[in-house]
Amino acid sequence: MEDWQEGEVVENIKWTKNLASLKIKAKINTHQAGQFTRIGLKINDDFVTRSYSYASAPEDELLEIIYVNVPNGIFSPRLFELKTGDKVSVMKQAIGYFTLDEIPDGKNLWMLATGTALGVFLAMLKTSSPWKRFEKIILIHSVRYAEDLIYQDLIKELKRLNPNQLIYLTAVTRSVVEGSYNNRIPKGFSTEDFQNSVQIKIDKDSQFMLCGNPEMIKETTEVLKSFGLNKNRRAKPGNITVERYWV
Ligand SMILES: Cc1cc2nc3c(=O)[nH]c(=O)nc-3n(C[C@H](O)[C@H](O)[C@H](O)COP(=O)(O)OP(=O)(O)OC[C@H]3O[C@@H](n4cnc5c(N)ncnc54)[C@H](O)[C@@H]3O)c2cc1C
Repeated sequence: MEDWQEGEVVENIKWTKNLASLKIKAKINTHQAGQFTRIGLKINDDFVTRSYSYASAPEDELLEIIYVNVPNGIFSPRLFELKTGDKVSVMKQAIGYFTLDEIPDGKNLWMLATGTALGVFLAMLKTSSPWKRFEKIILIHSVRYAEDLIYQDLIKELKRLNPNQLIYLTAVTRSVVEGSYNNRIPKGFSTEDFQNSVQIKIDKDSQFMLCGNPEMIKETTEVLKSFGLNKNRRAKPGNITVERYWV
């Protein structure tokens, strides 16, 4: 049975006109980085819920999510309106298996995120596990516009702490931004632009975690398969582990 807790909004940070981070204080169980929760709100007499990945690390005091205000969405526009002190329902127990425990060992860990899926990887990068397990960690964040490249301070700090391990690449698809790849993630791999820029070949030494937009996940998975990699399953370990945010 789902156990819901009342949470209180501490901050609703607006990065752009439709991208935000919500910080919530709630008595919930500790999660594992990579897991998600469900948030619930009463909308027109119905209790409506949606899933959101933790962007906060397990030891962070507040539950933090990054979310997009989906135009004509049922739930996210309501999240966008929340103010400090407002109440929301939060699931006590975190859910999901998109965690580093499920990833086989390897030399390189590639973290591929579209939009709000950056949060799931920030949660992981705030823990010690990936830094102990992998030689190189390549975080690729794909967004539409430069203004969507959020959490720059945190990423700079992670880079400062792990200068030889972390490689951060950005892909901006709808405007030309200096220093960013100007196309979608699957293209960056099929053209080998990403591999060339980081000087790492795609082979079984690399583990790939893909999160966010289902099209990115589908197309990138196909490209990675063409390099001889397979989906990671508990029964049959592989190199590609995915989490879709919608169907
Ligand atoms: C495991 C899991 C984790 C998730 N984590 C996050 C998260 O951390 N942040 C987040 O914003 N959403 C996340 N989602 C999506 C979230 O649950 C909602 O679907 C989203 O907030 C839209 O709800 P809505 O009622 O406003 O839109 P709906 O009326 O339900 O419309 C859904 C449509 O919104 C679009 N959409 C949904 N999510 C996104 C997104 N993240 N970016 C761009 N377009 C989107 C898609 O076109 C989708 O078909 C997650 C979903 C799953 C299954």
